[in-house]
Amino acid sequence: MAPVAWDLLCRPKKCGGLNIKGCKPWNVASVGKLLWQLVTNKEVLWVRWVHGVYMKICRSIWDHNPPADCSWYWKKINGLKRNMAHWYNGSTYTLTGNGAYSVSSSYNAMLGHMSRSWEMNLVWSGVMLPRHIFVLWLANQQKLQTKERLLQMHIPITEDVGCCMCALEVLESQQHLFGECCWVKTMRGALTRWSDINIPDMALPETLKWIRRHWKQFRKEVASTMIGAIVYHTWQARNWKIFRQINLSMDFYIGQIKKELTERPRMHAESRRARQCPLLIQRLCS
Ligand SMILES: [Zn+2]
Repeated sequence: MAPVAWDLLCRPKKCGGLNIKGCKPWNVASVGKLLWQLVTNKEVLWVRWVHGVYMKICRSIWDHNPPADCSWYWKKINGLKRNMAHWYNGSTYTLTGNGAYSVSSSYNAMLGHMSRSWEMNLVWSGVMLPRHIFVLWLANQQKLQTKERLLQMHIPITEDVGCCMCALEVLESQQHLFGECCWVKTMRGALTRWSDINIPDMALPETLKWIRRHWKQFRKEVASTMIGAIVYHTWQARNWKIFRQINLSMDFYIGQIKKELTERPRMHAESRRARQCPLLIQRLCS
């Protein structure tokens, strides 16, 4: 079962998606190049042929009406005018600065305006491990399949619906797992003392917003990397406990996160943004 809507996956990363290209709109945007060649009257053989066959009288594609007995392809190309005419000012394509046709610009224009999600810069940070990025991305969309989400989707659950990470009898939800659960609070406290990166206790989307507003670039990236690692390992610990009956100690997970939080920033230690935070690098890598 796909837990995330296809439309959301097809959004650009900066707007919360995974930047997957939808085949149909991408195909339409690609065929749009043929319309552009007609509008700009490109010196290519097929445009000259069209002018000699279909457009002998009317030389402008905007005023041309395809005849009833024309080919299916010609009708389809003319059908694009309806949705693409507003990209042109006369014969000038306006979605790019130089008027050259761009499939990506046309594709993005077809998707329409999407508001930017600034927290995505933190989720897609180069410091964070790719597998952590994916789980954090899902968690930030509230799409991890917790027991609460399964119940919302009317999927029957055979085991206990409570949180398996703590002794509290509460429904397992994302808000609980990554915010209120004493397991995650203990982990977060230990890592905060070790790294000296203090982040107030908040639900996940608010935590990323808070990090974005409060720190400089590299510190932001390291802080969100720490949050990504906490979310990833908490989710992994929960899954191992439920599905494999493996119950590792908190120290094991904290040790893993410390190792990752040392290795990843070290890889970027020579970058300009990292050199602006020497104390942080020293603390993590010493
Ligand atoms: Zn709990």
